[in-house]
Amino acid sequence: MADEIRIRGLEVYAHHGVYEEEARLGQRFIVDMSLRLDTRRAGLGDELESSVDYGEVCHFVTACLQEKRFKLIEAAAEYCAAAVLERWGQLEGLALELHKPSAPIGLPFADVSVRIERCWHRTYIALGSNLGDRRAYLEGAVEALRGLPHCRLGAVSGFIETEPFGYTEQPPFLNGCLELDTLLVPLELLEALQGIERSAHRERKIHWGPRTLDLDLLFYDGLVLDTDRLTLPHPGIAERRFVLEPLCEIAPGLRHPLLGRTVRQLLSELG
Ligand code: ATP
Ligand code: CA
Ligand code: CA
Repeated sequence: MADEIRIRGLEVYAHHGVYEEEARLGQRFIVDMSLRLDTRRAGLGDELESSVDYGEVCHFVTACLQEKRFKLIEAAAEYCAAAVLERWGQLEGLALELHKPSAPIGLPFADVSVRIERCWHRTYIALGSNLGDRRAYLEGAVEALRGLPHCRLGAVSGFIETEPFGYTEQPPFLNGCLELDTLLVPLELLEALQGIERSAHRERKIHWGPRTLDLDLLFYDGLVLDTDRLTLPHPGIAERRFVLEPLCEIAPGLRHPLLGRTVRQLLSELG
């Protein structure tokens, strides 16, 4: 969907800047925004409730820019973009340009601005535990993910008991999957997952060995990535019933971007 609501030239007097006098005196900022959402229902029904009230957005962004003091317009733009996307759940994404036409650079100039595009990314995460109170670790992880900043928890599968994979001399696992929409970039999300693992007292000893909590990032939109720290989609998905079974419960039609097969197909092909 390429629909947008566009706002141009919203003027806000605020106090962002590196210099002390900018913070003290303030100056004029100007905001342009393109809000990405499906306007079809509002277009046919002609009801404000089906859309985003752009007047309200303008007041909200004004308050965002006035309640904080940032050194950089990059930071002010980032803060506003996330706040708007989190406040209006029906937005898929937005572009936001923040202008600072009176920036004190000691030269006559027309304008400087930062323009960013941000959107929700759909991710799927696998959860596993085979030490201690496994259910409590998985439930704790779900709650931790629900509370992650800039994330929205979606469907959560049931938890299934599975035999260990790889290193088999260890207790059975409890496994599940969940859907998480996020504004985080992939490495930020991976770090957040590893932080949750650490707070579940996970220790890295044997590869594929027993652990209180394992959180794997399975998919991040349709992104394909292979770096030292992160491989996407997670390379083990197609061979792992303990991933595909709970994933099929919440996203049977999700298509693997490299294999071209849906989760339901991959599961049935496992035999
Ligand atoms: P597997 O990834 O085969 O399920 P594992 O979960 O036991 O094995 P870990 O010890 O938890 O492996 O992770 C090892 C490293 O894998 C992590 O430090 C992380 O940087 C890297 N990694 C790469 N891709 C991913 C991914 N998609 N999700 C989670 N970790 C990943
Ligand atoms: Ca794993
Ligand atoms: Ca892992």
